[in-house]
Amino acid sequence: MELTGLFINGEFVAAEGSATYPSINPADGQPWCDFAAASAKDVDRAVAAAKASFESGVWRNTSAQERAAVLRRAADLFSEYHGQIAMAEIQDSGATLRKANGADLIAANLSFQEYANLIEQTPLEQRAEEFFPIASENIIRREPVGVVAAIVPFNFPLAAASWKVAPALAAGCSLVLKPSPYTPATALWIAKVMKEAGLPDGVLNVITGPGPDIGAHLVEHPDVDKVAFTGSTQVGRIVGASAGRQIKRCMLELGGKSANIILDDADLDVAIPVALFATFFHSGQVCESGTRILVPRSMHDEFVQRLVAEAQRVKLGHPMEMETTMGPLVSAEQLANSKRYVALAIEEGATVACGGAEPEDLKALGGYYFPPTILTGVTNDMRIAQEEVFGPVVVVIPYQDEEDALRIANDSPFGLAAALWTQDEARALNLARRLEAGTVWINDYHMISPKYPFGGFKASGVGRELGLAGLDAYFELKHIHVARTSTLEEKHYLPLTLSDLDL
Ligand code: NAD
Repeated sequence: MELTGLFINGEFVAAEGSATYPSINPADGQPWCDFAAASAKDVDRAVAAAKASFESGVWRNTSAQERAAVLRRAADLFSEYHGQIAMAEIQDSGATLRKANGADLIAANLSFQEYANLIEQTPLEQRAEEFFPIASENIIRREPVGVVAAIVPFNFPLAAASWKVAPALAAGCSLVLKPSPYTPATALWIAKVMKEAGLPDGVLNVITGPGPDIGAHLVEHPDVDKVAFTGSTQVGRIVGASAGRQIKRCMLELGGKSANIILDDADLDVAIPVALFATFFHSGQVCESGTRILVPRSMHDEFVQRLVAEAQRVKLGHPMEMETTMGPLVSAEQLANSKRYVALAIEEGATVACGGAEPEDLKALGGYYFPPTILTGVTNDMRIAQEEVFGPVVVVIPYQDEEDALRIANDSPFGLAAALWTQDEARALNLARRLEAGTVWINDYHMISPKYPFGGFKASGVGRELGLAGLDAYFELKHIHVARTSTLEEKHYLPLTLSDLDL
């Protein structure tokens, strides 16, 4: 790949001392490309470029229409470079052809289009005549928050970055984007696309590198005004604490252990295949995966039998093969993690209904393959039901009645998503209102759109991305009060009672 440098102040440049590191292709475990390995000094250079561009007003002072035009050109360029970007994502992250071409590029394209539309529709300055507390004109302004550190994980490198870059740019912010060390390639493509779309130099900067240190340095940097982080709850706690010390604005999109609730009137012909998609899409490396399937006790055995039979149809294999429906995990560490959790579940008393061990026939490929794994005999208090695996491992938990299902679903430190399967929409809506989750799907799964807010209750995060909430996350709100009173008597600074106010 030609894009391998850091992107600072509008140029692809080498890291300090020309340091590089290899990105490993998860399909075969081999290095596929060397990328720049940023140092703390490189982070400082990137933040300085972002700050200078913000202070110059070169982007933040453009009109909403001008910013929307750049975002729309970027959306078109993602389509134009579709093939090259998809190839980079496949080699870097192990995404299948279907995921890279479909979900990833569509998410990027739609985010840039949606935030182009939203910035044109959102009032940046609203005025109102008010007589409380005194006659005055009041202006509410949306102002860009400043320099944003956007930190993203390895599972949806292009989409997760687009969900931050598009709204932050729409709002007029400048950014430093830091992709996961495992998956730097498509962040650099975003830089190339934005430059070609006409974004001024310095407004978007990208730093790549292998260690957690550059992320920590970026979060700590005093010239960063806002941190937009997507990643694990474990790292999210560190990032949130660091941002909190400086009272930095901070958005955290973290892990999950989402409940997929099958009610007794569910259409199992649809619910079962979708339950597999819910949990094995991108080898289970999806934050809102439906990794706890809750089934009525009376239906449990038949359900598991059908689920296992359906799971045999998942085609695990090389991501570049058209018939592959599930590819490798991103790294040797993630593979080891899935194996460790299956061993732990067995120790806790779970039974492996299918999968659970590395497939012998794929070992020759040298990649990080783990099969669809279904665990039964699981109770919700086990670690396998409480902790995020981030691999293709799902547990099936029986429940007694609707209240029991709701109790189990909500008995989790996380609250990212949930799903309900039933033919009774009123019943589903009642339950949906009582689920502690940022997104609830009824008879569906993984339906995320830039039009609707996405984020977590509880340990799944703080704040929301996407939709108008995802744009407002990059604004400071300012209230300007203009007095329409001229004498001291008119001002009523300290009225004794409400009736003293001449409303
Ligand atoms: P991670 O937390 O290990 O890393 C995320 C990012 O943070 C990476 O870019 C990493 O380099 C960086 N980082 C690591 N240590 C840091 C530090 N001390 N300071 C600043 N940055 C640091 O996550 P991951 O393993 O890349 O991704 C998987 C996790 O992401 C899962 O837990 C998953 O649920 C979560 N995720 C959440 C969402 C969501 O929207 N809620 C979406 C996708 C993934």
